[in-house]
Amino acid sequence: MIALADTFAIFSTLSSGAAIGPSLLAVALWELFWPEHRNALPFLSRWVSNFSLFVLSLACTALLTPSLTWLTNMVLERSPLRWAPGEFGFWLHLVYACLVLDALNYVLHRAMHKFPMLWRLHSLHHSDVSLDVSTTVRHHPLEAIVTASIMGIAGALLGCSAAEVAVYAVLETVVQLVAHADVRLPRFLESAVERILVTPKFHRMHHSSEASETDSNYGQVFAFWDGLLGTSSGLAEGARAAIEFGLKKFRDSRSQRLDQLLLLPVHIFDPN
Ligand SMILES: [Zn+2]
Ligand SMILES: [Zn+2]
Repeated sequence: MIALADTFAIFSTLSSGAAIGPSLLAVALWELFWPEHRNALPFLSRWVSNFSLFVLSLACTALLTPSLTWLTNMVLERSPLRWAPGEFGFWLHLVYACLVLDALNYVLHRAMHKFPMLWRLHSLHHSDVSLDVSTTVRHHPLEAIVTASIMGIAGALLGCSAAEVAVYAVLETVVQLVAHADVRLPRFLESAVERILVTPKFHRMHHSSEASETDSNYGQVFAFWDGLLGTSSGLAEGARAAIEFGLKKFRDSRSQRLDQLLLLPVHIFDPN
């Protein structure tokens, strides 16, 4: 059983962004030196907005950490699925945790698209008119709070420890950074993992401005949930430049300003 102090340390590490820093830098360098397609759009203003949103989200989740730690530990204590050492092997349970947390993430992501109240929060992620590694951290701070709370509490209910949630969070971070990046996986790697893991070609479809494609490919780490549950639109083939990313109504420079992005939950359903 992990002590509350350890749990707090794990959540603090995650919410401080320490886990994301090195992998973000590595993928950013990959994108810089070996891009699949150099974005025609000036990236500076997007990067300022995206990383400002990242800092705001980190600050909000850091504030939430003490109460979320207490709550998840309490839920885990009472969970009928709580890990019993010796009953389930450590590694076997870690595999269970990664699968069950990713299934939960798939359901939550699908709900973000289905329910208007949640789409108000999630639409900001889809409003990026280009796609690169910085899009990974482009989330509304309120979405970050909702996601951290649901994943932590529901994960604990399903018997996942804070350490397992942390391992899954690192796995998700790495897969999502690569999935958003303007990079092409080596062919042998692409064909080896494309049916199992979310790849750039898979997640690109999810950022298309076409509604039928936006509402597909919800997977965050494992791509097979979409195949199993009938929400896959396959892999983006052909030139990356052929896909229009973003939301059709929010493409002008004013809509892309940081203040307007933070207000997007209010304006997303405006008629004009
Ligand atoms: Zn989405
Ligand atoms: Zn995305």
